[in-house]
Amino acid sequence: MLRSIGGLGVTMVGSASAYRHDRTYEDHSDDGIPVELKRSEAFHDRLADLFGSESFEGLKPGRMDFLVDARYVGDATVDDAVKRYLEELFRDNGIYMQWVDHPDRMDERQFLAEYGNDAHSILWSKRGFYAREVESYLKDIALQLVVVPGRREPPYEGRIYSELDDIVGLNNGWLNGVNTGNRAVMGHRESRREQARLSLHEIAHLVLCHDDDPTNSGVMGVQEEVDLTPAEWSQFRDGLDGVRDTTGYDIALRRCSWEEYTPSRPTCCE
Ligand SMILES: [Zn+2]
Repeated sequence: MLRSIGGLGVTMVGSASAYRHDRTYEDHSDDGIPVELKRSEAFHDRLADLFGSESFEGLKPGRMDFLVDARYVGDATVDDAVKRYLEELFRDNGIYMQWVDHPDRMDERQFLAEYGNDAHSILWSKRGFYAREVESYLKDIALQLVVVPGRREPPYEGRIYSELDDIVGLNNGWLNGVNTGNRAVMGHRESRREQARLSLHEIAHLVLCHDDDPTNSGVMGVQEEVDLTPAEWSQFRDGLDGVRDTTGYDIALRRCSWEEYTPSRPTCCE
């Protein structure tokens, strides 16, 4: 199946099958979002008020829902075409993903002064961005994706400094993105393909680890295609309840945290 992002000639070969026509996925909706919340009008209104009813379409009992709550710092963006492309890709694979932009774009200087641009202080420090800024009711029902400009001095354009540096020794600690379970940070990219590839990679880390099988052409493998393999999609559907916040445990107990950040995995975080 051929897909293109925004008609820019960026064509990707997707493995997305006719999954949409396979109704078996409707039988399970263990997506981590409690059914009573999905049924609550007050909750729906709260989310619609925050994200805007044009981007938040609501949640449905029995449907596998998945919210990506994107937060932007400074000029960092993800193109609308990329968001729509990813929504379609997820939906073709049985997951009703909605990319919702959080309305509070943060000033870059203020963000750097308060949190810095290292993954630790953005994602898991007790006084970091996630802990202090993310509304607790959103931590449990959405994956937070923070998009940052990254430092601009060469050769670190668009990269995030990771405090895993000492463990990793990769790229001198400058990474393109880091995921710690139900939250992730990534650097802004100009190219739509790169935006899509990096977003999907960091989002997929909610459930999936890297795959060193050379036949895996998707974003967790050799990254030739902006897609996951059918087996990875299946795994992702099964692990979607990981979107619930289990602060204090999600990092330490995350299945692939440690194997991800070892020097034997040179594709880490790209
Ligand atoms: Zn990775």
